[in-house]
Amino acid sequence: MFGKILIANRGEIALRIQRACRMLGIKTVAVHSVADKDAMYVRLADESVCIGPAQSSESYLNIPAIISAAEVTDAEAIHPGYGFLSENADFADRVEKSGFAFIGPRGDTIRLMGDKVNAKNAMIAAGVPCVPGSDGALPDDPKEILAIAKRVGYPVLIKASAGGGGRGMRVVRTEAALINSVNLTKTEAKAAFGSDKVYLEKFLENPRHIEIQVLSDNFQNAVHLYERDCSMQRRNQKVVEESPAPGIARKLIEKLGARCVDACRRIGYRGAGTFEFLYENGEFYFIEMNTRVQVEHPVTEFVTGVDIIAEQIRIAAGERLSFRQRDITPKGAAIECRINAEDGFTFRPSPGKVTRWHMPGGPGVRLDSHVYAGYTIPAHYDSMIGKLICYGDTREQALARMQVALSEILVEGINTNVPLHRQILSDLKFMQGGTSIHYLEERLAEWQAVRKEK
Ligand code: ADP
Repeated sequence: MFGKILIANRGEIALRIQRACRMLGIKTVAVHSVADKDAMYVRLADESVCIGPAQSSESYLNIPAIISAAEVTDAEAIHPGYGFLSENADFADRVEKSGFAFIGPRGDTIRLMGDKVNAKNAMIAAGVPCVPGSDGALPDDPKEILAIAKRVGYPVLIKASAGGGGRGMRVVRTEAALINSVNLTKTEAKAAFGSDKVYLEKFLENPRHIEIQVLSDNFQNAVHLYERDCSMQRRNQKVVEESPAPGIARKLIEKLGARCVDACRRIGYRGAGTFEFLYENGEFYFIEMNTRVQVEHPVTEFVTGVDIIAEQIRIAAGERLSFRQRDITPKGAAIECRINAEDGFTFRPSPGKVTRWHMPGGPGVRLDSHVYAGYTIPAHYDSMIGKLICYGDTREQALARMQVALSEILVEGINTNVPLHRQILSDLKFMQGGTSIHYLEERLAEWQAVRKEK
């Protein structure tokens, strides 16, 4: 096992990783920007290194500074968390070339999955169900493009192969608009991602977002940790996540999970990862793989009892998975609300000093946050300041615990989206479960109109 790990991230996930390290008896190095110098997790770390100014491009994305920090502190491994450099294949390569273990997949795997056309081809080869569409990148000939779209059937979606974060996509509903839209998406993709490779797939009108968590060691042992339903989204950003996905037959999930496990073996996957799917009319369609730990991993930790971050570390240290698929029996239900420093209904960011911070507790309640009373939330980063996760024997119990927990939260000095979460948690359709990826935005439009009237 490693003696010391450098955590190349900030905020709640930096604290979460630090906790896993301490539990495993591993020393930690926190790297931080000038803006994060007073963060509690920086003080709690065994060592800390300031790697640059507030701007992420100069600090949390500064590869040479992070590698130097690992060198001067004699760290053995680097955990990238999520966001920042976590899916940067060149970073993974640099880390390993510099003699450290990268707590994540090999650079080549990240590269393969970061190119959506190649990722989709790899999934098709592994028998993972994908959205019907072009076989690989679109050709140049407009006639051929028109023929592909005709075969797939409108509406279609044009997607940039190198796209990410919900960008580089365009819906086309009529043949007349197709060629123009392809050209526009190519131009934008070239400017935003440096590649004009685009592909086409069927646009699903009203799907749910279902994802499968996997863990895979260096010895071809892979397991899936079942699913999460992340359909409650705004602008492609997840707001609430849960497991299990309401109303989907366990047999279907187990079959899908088995396909994902096969795919992991085929591509020689290492570490924790997530296969994301759209689900419509009883069918799953692969959209992308995330080659890192995800924000919503605690939901899975609650229902499976597996400490996903600890497993990531063990796998990176060369240990074998200590359990098999048959050892994983999901139990109960868990739900997560992302707590953001922003107005819950206008979504205006609300950084600043937190003057009061009272958080809930009780059975089945978990709070992952680095915030405390007196902490100043910097304006430079993502607005997510914590996650509230609740567990119950049933979905009803998990929801009831979440409602109580949300009602106990008291934050002063900044705005949070807790009022939005309370509204979501009392929405009848959401309580029934199984809403699509458009549901939250539809409700939001209504809620915003009602608030304006008042
Ligand atoms: P990104 O890497 O930008 O997150 P994804 O491929 O994961 O790209 O797609 C982001 C979102 O776009 C999905 O969560 C879904 O809401 C929507 N989307 C992607 N592909 C389709 C599709 N074929 N039909 C309908 N919506 C889609």
